[in-house]
Amino acid sequence: MQREQQYVMQTYRRAEVEFVRGEGALLFDGQGRQYVDLLSGISVASLGHCPAPVIEAVSDQIGRLLHVSNLFYTGPMVDLAERISTRSIGGPVFFCNSGAEANECAIKVARKHASGRGIDDPEIIVFEGDFHGRTYGALSATPGLASSPDLGPMLPGFRSVPFDDAAALEAAFGENTAAVLMEPVQGEAGVFPASEETLSTARRLCDESGALLIFDEVQTGVGRTGSLWAYEQTAVRPDVLTTAKALGGGVAIGACVNSERLGQVLEPGDHGSTFAAGPVAASAALAVLDAVDDPGMLRRIRDLGRFLRESLLAIEGVTEVRGRGLMLGVGFEQGIDARTLNSVLLERGFVANAPRPDTLRLLPPFVLEDEQAAGAVAAIGEVVADLRGGRGEA
Ligand code: PLP
Repeated sequence: MQREQQYVMQTYRRAEVEFVRGEGALLFDGQGRQYVDLLSGISVASLGHCPAPVIEAVSDQIGRLLHVSNLFYTGPMVDLAERISTRSIGGPVFFCNSGAEANECAIKVARKHASGRGIDDPEIIVFEGDFHGRTYGALSATPGLASSPDLGPMLPGFRSVPFDDAAALEAAFGENTAAVLMEPVQGEAGVFPASEETLSTARRLCDESGALLIFDEVQTGVGRTGSLWAYEQTAVRPDVLTTAKALGGGVAIGACVNSERLGQVLEPGDHGSTFAAGPVAASAALAVLDAVDDPGMLRRIRDLGRFLRESLLAIEGVTEVRGRGLMLGVGFEQGIDARTLNSVLLERGFVANAPRPDTLRLLPPFVLEDEQAAGAVAAIGEVVADLRGGRGEA
């Protein structure tokens, strides 16, 4: 910890645990202590830690070809593009290495598309509370961070409206609107699904004006909400979709997909990335999609999500459980500090996260076993009871 403070830029507030090994839904620290993971490395290790299909795919590929750049063709990259495209909105894919970069691509697509419509001063509408990443484009599109006085100037061309306010969205639309960029379910804000009304208003306004509807599915995508993509559970299809996090099962990869109707927008020279969809990362992602894009797996995500939702709601002190599938925000009555709850849970061997003082966020791996899920609910119930002063044993 001391060396970390000395040698690592201090951009994170880390919990005082060093993990050295992971297996399925379990993590182990340096002392051999076991933890049940309810966070999946923030929605990344969805198939659990060191999942066999990903290890096999990566091991098989890594000894043949590790990197060759995007100046040449590689098979896994093309296979992955075809798989993502045909299982989402049908158009061409740009690959990158993270969620922020996937959104950078979407911003470029939106601006270039707007330029083609004769808009010189394009504006992208975003929602308060949305999180799109830390690079300057994505940061400027993240209202809660874009106002940081020390990090400016931000990229111009973004306008924010209150979350889930369809009327405000409509009022913000103008001649220069290039796109609406939104999370179908806000993740970092504390798990807040956008309403069907907001989604359909955004779709209608984009259709009427020719602007693009961009869904940031970096956190919601790749099965997390119980369908391969969150938009599949709504009446709305986006024109552009971004994904990363769980796509590589722990290997860094991201992607930005256009719809079939939108087709190619970017041209040679408009965008690029040295590492993107290298053979190893692309092979990992293909293995992940093989496992997740499966009716049995998606049903398991929904069933486990339902179990967690119902049993958490039965805990006194829990006021609501928001979200879909295995993306859950657990809300508590006043007086229960979710951050304290989260720290006590960690001491008891459960890894979760508190994105706001009244919310515990659960993003468990899809391979969480019934017994582990029941144990997590029991532990949360005991700690909540203790925090409410009802019991003294937590
Ligand atoms: N978009 C959403 C919805 C996210 O939740 C995140 C990360 O939490 C990002 C974008 C940024 O992804 P990355 O950290 O891989 O750049």
